[in-house]
Amino acid sequence: MTCKEAEQMVMPYINDELTDRELEAFLDHVYSCKSCYEELEIYYTLYAGLAQLDSDEDGNQDMHSLLEEALYASDQRVRGRKLFHIYYALSQVLAMAALTAIIVTEILKL
Ligand SMILES: [Zn+2]
Repeated sequence: MTCKEAEQMVMPYINDELTDRELEAFLDHVYSCKSCYEELEIYYTLYAGLAQLDSDEDGNQDMHSLLEEALYASDQRVRGRKLFHIYYALSQVLAMAALTAIIVTEILKL
């Protein structure tokens, strides 16, 4: 992903509009690119700051740690989905193996 592409994903990221695939590519880029991370931090701080003005919370929230938490949650989401796909594929393979074993056993009985 280029920096330009990452910059275009900042607002969709904040609005939670990225697909898992986009989210994963975006996170990879942001973690490895300091300037895009800073870009995201600026937008996130602005956005979260505005959202906070609307709410009754006191304004003492640390924006940097809020962003860290949001990124961590996104990361967990991407990883969680990936793990699910691996388990799903694995269970399919095991089911096929079990079925094959049953069929072979039945054939040997004949
Ligand atoms: Zn970048």
